[in-house]
Amino acid sequence: MFQSKLFTKIERNAPKDEASLNAQLLERGGFIYKNSAGVYSFLPLGWRVIRNLSQIVREEMDAIGGEELLMSALHEKHYLKATGRWEVPVVYKVVAGEEKEPGYNISWTHEEPVSEIAAKYVNSYKDLPFAVYQIQTKFRHEPRAKSGLLRGREFLMKDLYSFHATEEDLFKYYARVAEAYHKVFKRCGLDAVYTLAPGGEFTVSNTHEFQVISPVGEDTIFVCEKCRYAENEEIAEMKEGGRCPKCGGAVKKEKAVEVGNIFPLGTKYAKAFNLQFTDERGEKKHVVMGSYGIGISRLMGVIVEQFNDKNGILWPENVAPFGAHLLSLNGADGARVYETLQRVGIEVLYDDRENVSAGEKFAEADLIGIPWRVVVSPKLGEKVEVKRRNENEAKVMEIEEFVKMTNDKWQMANGK
Ligand code: ATP
Ligand code: MG
Repeated sequence: MFQSKLFTKIERNAPKDEASLNAQLLERGGFIYKNSAGVYSFLPLGWRVIRNLSQIVREEMDAIGGEELLMSALHEKHYLKATGRWEVPVVYKVVAGEEKEPGYNISWTHEEPVSEIAAKYVNSYKDLPFAVYQIQTKFRHEPRAKSGLLRGREFLMKDLYSFHATEEDLFKYYARVAEAYHKVFKRCGLDAVYTLAPGGEFTVSNTHEFQVISPVGEDTIFVCEKCRYAENEEIAEMKEGGRCPKCGGAVKKEKAVEVGNIFPLGTKYAKAFNLQFTDERGEKKHVVMGSYGIGISRLMGVIVEQFNDKNGILWPENVAPFGAHLLSLNGADGARVYETLQRVGIEVLYDDRENVSAGEKFAEADLIGIPWRVVVSPKLGEKVEVKRRNENEAKVMEIEEFVKMTNDKWQMANGK
């Protein structure tokens, strides 16, 4: 993509109405636009990141048998009335046309609609188990929407729902989802701590959260330094300075951001929507469900909070909007390099702008944070100068050498 054609522009200064670092950097870089508190639009650069994150999540959900679908965002009120959740404070309700009272809500989560849909197709134990998921927009009237993408009033979530004949089968699948989540976060460059969290009215036991340790986190967790066993403070029996109940290691108290969670729901939703099956002996039973979330847009915010320096963002390779940022300095023609990189499948943002100084191009490239910077300039002749965003040293080489080097790195990262 040619940077001269990109409709967004880099902003030098941080937006005044934004206290959170992820939002500041992402707005300055032209990744997102703030529509109102907690409501953001994803601009071309930001949408590329969201697409990469979504693709990673998709691959891992498909790998555990998840079937992707897309459920409606507008929910007639019978859904939440059926489970007593119509009065939940974060739910946005909609007054339609000339009606006086709200008759709908906009999607904040989908346990109710997905249970009603499943009830249409499930009859026998032979129809179970299965799992469906979507990547979809959720709306919640969060009272404090001051953390940029970490807490949106409108945000992107992946929500997976699983359906089982027995609790035993649910817990087997629950463990597989936990495995898949670890893979997702690892591929996103994040170290997420698997954390025990309390259950609630709708779960059959405790739940688990995936927490990324960060000073901007709104949650507090206790983590064992040795085996990484962790508990959310809402449920914790562990204490700072105490010993881990699993291995005796030292316990630390940490602030953390929840990037995902998994819930063993049991039969509450199935009961509300008459979701039943006939077992092997001809007995009618309620389906046992699980629900599993990942905050896709929150993930983008967490990544920026984890990977930045004073000059801007440092995107992990797997989620970066482009693989390489090609800068043409002092009127050099980067066409050959651009085509070479594109041909081998490296996605390139090509800063082909004329009359922009080298200093400005470097500063903007650092802010945008693409993993590799590739420079062409008259003084380099046919060669290019390449630098990783997270290293200070630049190297001069032939473009073919760069292609080979990144290709080798890619193969190593993917176990080839
Ligand atoms: P939190 O405790 O942070 O409010 P939650 O328990 O309400 O989260 P869930 O309803 O289980 O979260 O949603 C699943 C996932 O969606 C969370 O793990 C989180 O990653 C993400 N998420 C939840 N609320 C928001 C929000 N307001 N903005 C962005 N992402 C969110
Ligand atoms: Mg919440």
